Amino acid sequence: MRLSRFFLPILKENPKEAEIVSHRLMLRAGMIRQQAAGSYTFLPLGKRVLDKVCAIIREEQNRAGANEILMPTIQSADLWRESGRYDSYGKEMLRIEDRHGRDMLYGPTNEEVVTDIFRSYVRSYKDLPLNLYHIQWKFRDEVRPRFGVMRSREFLMKDAYSFDIDQASAETAYHRMFVAYLRTFQRCGLQAIPMRADTGPIGGDLSHEFIILASTGESEVFCHRDFLGLKVPDASVDFSDAAGLAEVVKTWTTPYAATDEMHDEATWSAVPAEDKVAARGIEVGHIFYFGTKYSEPLKALVTGPDGKETPVHGGSYGIGPSRLIAAIIEASHDENGIVWPKSVAPFDVGLVSMKPGDADCDAACETIYRELEAAGFDVLYDDQDTRAGAKFASMDLIGLPMQVIVGPRGAKAGEAEIKVRATGERETIPLASVVARVSA
Ligand code: ATP
Ligand code: MG
Repeated sequence: MRLSRFFLPILKENPKEAEIVSHRLMLRAGMIRQQAAGSYTFLPLGKRVLDKVCAIIREEQNRAGANEILMPTIQSADLWRESGRYDSYGKEMLRIEDRHGRDMLYGPTNEEVVTDIFRSYVRSYKDLPLNLYHIQWKFRDEVRPRFGVMRSREFLMKDAYSFDIDQASAETAYHRMFVAYLRTFQRCGLQAIPMRADTGPIGGDLSHEFIILASTGESEVFCHRDFLGLKVPDASVDFSDAAGLAEVVKTWTTPYAATDEMHDEATWSAVPAEDKVAARGIEVGHIFYFGTKYSEPLKALVTGPDGKETPVHGGSYGIGPSRLIAAIIEASHDENGIVWPKSVAPFDVGLVSMKPGDADCDAACETIYRELEAAGFDVLYDDQDTRAGAKFASMDLIGLPMQVIVGPRGAKAGEAEIKVRATGERETIPLASVVARVSA
């Protein structure tokens, strides 16, 4: 992508409304634009990161055996009356009436809709386990939307829903998502800690929040230092091995970890002082096992091996990709801007021409641009005639992992400069080695 063709509305000034670094950097880097309170447009740079994050989430959900669907954003109030949540959900739900006077709502979550899909098709334990997920916009009329996409009213969510014949198999379904979440957050460059959590309006009795430690986090969290050294299962993890999954979950739930709502002073006081991490955290994912809470009222029944009908056991599993982007920035930035982990960077490489119009410079840049793209890299090519200082500041601000800088003198001498964004390390190399260096 040539910068001259790319819509990248960088802000020079720090926006006054941004209280935390991720919000400030997302606005300054031209990633998002506020449309109304708690509602944002993702501009091209932001959309690219959102797509990268969603692709990782999708791969890990699919690997764990979940099936992607896409449910509507507007739901019928009748389903929520059936589950009993229409009245209890309260003011966070945006209620709408259509032209025929029918009550509708903008979905804050999808347990009802997905359970309705399930009960329309599935009758037998032989069709289980089943996990259906989608990545869709949600609306929750938060009292205090703030911090940009961290706590917005309209936000993207990946929500998955598992269906199983009994509690034991539902726990395995829970473990699958637990492990998929560990992998997802690690691939996004984050260290997420699962913490026992309150179930809130989703309900149920088993629940974990996945928390990123960050000083700007909204929750107070307490955990054992051991978490910082635990190993996340690699891609070869077997999602059909119930015992293996249970073992991983056990490892990741044994050291003490709790948010303030679930915090237990007595257990905490038994943790040695040097192992205590009391910090603030950002909730990026939340998983629930709620048994038959929805299947009973909605009559989602399945026939078991004994021929008897029972309500199906359910769980739900959420990740907020839009919030996740803000969390990644909170965890990875410096005084000059964002430092993207490679896996979610909007482009792999920033190619900076120091003098567009100079014949040698243009020729060298065009060649590198073509070769890098041919090698499969996404390149943002700054082909604009602007001041050197502004070019460098913008490149650092948008945080692409690698910069390739070509000036007229270097181009004549057959050289380019490489800068690694995370370390600031620079080196001058032959033009012919650029692709190999970027691939290394
Ligand atoms: P919170 O406690 O932060 O209000 P929640 O517990 O209500 O979140 P869940 O219902 O567990 O949220 O939603 C699943 C995921 O969706 C969360 O872990 C989070 O990543 C994301 N999410 C929830 N609310 C918001 C929001 N207002 N803005 C952005 N992302 C959100
Ligand atoms: Mg939650």
